[in-house]
Amino acid sequence: MALVPFDDRDGHIWFDGVMMPWRDAKLHVLTHGLHYASGVFEGERAYSGNIFKLRAHTDRLINSGRILGFEIPYTADEIDAACIAVLKANGQEDAYIRPIAWRGSEMLAVSAQQTKIHLAIATWPWGAYFGADKMAGIRLDIAEWRRPHPQTAPTASKAAGLYMIGTLSKHTAEAKGFNDAMMLDWRGQVAEATGANAFFVMDGELHTPTPDCFLDGITRRTVMAIANRHQMKVVERVIMPEEMAKATEVFLAGTAAEVTPVRQIGPYNFTPGLITETLLTDYEKLVRKSPAEVEVLAPI
Ligand code: PMP
Repeated sequence: MALVPFDDRDGHIWFDGVMMPWRDAKLHVLTHGLHYASGVFEGERAYSGNIFKLRAHTDRLINSGRILGFEIPYTADEIDAACIAVLKANGQEDAYIRPIAWRGSEMLAVSAQQTKIHLAIATWPWGAYFGADKMAGIRLDIAEWRRPHPQTAPTASKAAGLYMIGTLSKHTAEAKGFNDAMMLDWRGQVAEATGANAFFVMDGELHTPTPDCFLDGITRRTVMAIANRHQMKVVERVIMPEEMAKATEVFLAGTAAEVTPVRQIGPYNFTPGLITETLLTDYEKLVRKSPAEVEVLAPI
């Protein structure tokens, strides 16, 4: 399939309060966000016209900016309304939504106190992140790059700069024929994939790494709520890479990845099974419910 460049598409983008034609949503090359990665973003999905867990994403976006030392100049209500408005302007019911906030071009040096904070929101159709045949399972390389210590990087923020090691890890994995990479953290503990959290079925229980230096994903928390409804035991703990040998099922959880079964991580092999399938099916059903029902079924 031919690539359609992201700057040459039809549709609308909400940019600093204005709904503008897609191709006009441009910025200057001397923008602080580009040079110094002073940007934070979100990844959301709409299903049947509703943006899943919209307020949780908006709150995280605002908080991500605060962690980087800036205040996005819109309220959570205004950001929610803008996300819904772009989706509507683009005539989409099922889509990916990308809000991004960044420092502008008033100053271009490490110090950027006087920069204006911008916000843009785009939406586009995006099918299954790893392809449609989900239960086949994907293959993960084990990355060389490590998730940094929380005193080395603002790890609780969905900050653009943190994706530098993700892209490096994913490119290396793809060059070796893998779909993605599992990243360890600075201590050598299992952390997460490049854009999704990980779950391991061990002795019939659901185990997941403690998110103390990477995102505690909205999908991760949603999957834990679904598992609780099934009376599954969910254990958040330190997981060392060798322990992956005793996992029977593994899957990733993230907004773009949704619930994606995994069949290989480095030397370890797994068979996507019933627990994964149950959680995947329940997640797919949940995302199509009304926002009010979602809050009852899976509060996070
Ligand atoms: N970790 C990383 C690095 C991510 O990019 C994402 C996707 N935002 C996640 C985890 C999962 O987060 P969420 O479920 O909130 O999308």
